[in-house]
Amino acid sequence: MKTDRADILSLLRNSTDYVSGQQLCDKFGVTRTAVWKVMNQLKEDGYLIESVPHKGYRLLKSPDDILSESEIASRLTTEWAGEKICYYDVTGSTNNDAKRLGEEGTPHGTVVVADVQNAGKGRRGRGWQTLPGTALAFTLLLRPVFAADKASMITLVMALSVAQAVEKMAGVAATIKWPNDIVVSGRKICGMLTEMTMTPEMDEIQYIVIGAGINVNNASPEEFAEDIRDKATSLRIETGRLFNRAELLNEILNRFEANYEIFLKTLDLSGIKEDYQKRLQGVGGEVRVLDPAGEYTGVSQGIDDSGELIVIKENGETVRVYAGEVSVRGLYGYV
Ligand code: ATP
Repeated sequence: MKTDRADILSLLRNSTDYVSGQQLCDKFGVTRTAVWKVMNQLKEDGYLIESVPHKGYRLLKSPDDILSESEIASRLTTEWAGEKICYYDVTGSTNNDAKRLGEEGTPHGTVVVADVQNAGKGRRGRGWQTLPGTALAFTLLLRPVFAADKASMITLVMALSVAQAVEKMAGVAATIKWPNDIVVSGRKICGMLTEMTMTPEMDEIQYIVIGAGINVNNASPEEFAEDIRDKATSLRIETGRLFNRAELLNEILNRFEANYEIFLKTLDLSGIKEDYQKRLQGVGGEVRVLDPAGEYTGVSQGIDDSGELIVIKENGETVRVYAGEVSVRGLYGYV
């Protein structure tokens, strides 16, 4: 039934003229009553649908922002990413959901989306906060055939995809704080967490989940918890506009498909490095590397083809910083 709803919604969205009830019945093999029920559900969800006797139905307006399985599915224009969608109004963590589905054999490209995560995860056991009706929290599951040592690059592929999608939809400059935080006007708009599960024999990747939390429709900085208020922002705060989160997700997944295809050709970042690098914060400037083994400062040279950050220390030593346990800061603050 949910699929019917998404299919009907997508047909209405893409039609300039009325779509008759009979057309819908024939196309989707459903009864008139089923069509009527779907229309009523859509209206209840806030879609403005005109129904004219002998002509049919026409979608006059979608809600500015609504997150639901049908809305997401009806917006998707990807080849494989999001072919299977699991949507939750509230969940613990979309990464955990995706890993559970991964164990159950869910296909490559499965996407888990939630309006609220009440145990959203960042790196090193840190939390990611989402407020109802504001955030896009999603996780993409991949079943890659490449070796495990390539996996850390996937997070940079997603970072570039989110930055590109944010720029396209919001018209703001999105920069990347290595390896994968997306920053707008010096504040964090998106965090990511990539997790990998190996096969029981530990010789192949079983699946990778890439989770992203994006602050989309938070109206003001006061909505964020006090500890992140001075370093977080949202697309709405930056532009004064509301965004449709399903549309943003579609844009991100399309970008990811394109960037991932380029990555797969060489199994390194050489094909997208230029695009990544031009958004990378702090290249040529001094950065503070918060390595658990000891903090140090140096001048950032940008990334190499494997996504490691090249930093020249004060003593002239060149360090290649491996994404994983390390955070990078500007010398005097977050960026
Ligand atoms: P950082 O350099 O920001 O420490 P990180 O990659 O180590 O980056 P993440 O795992 O991406 O951190 O994100 C977790 C951190 O992000 C939290 O500790 C918190 O400071 C911050 N944070 C949590 N929720 C949000 C949010 N909604 N918007 C912006 N920042 C957030």
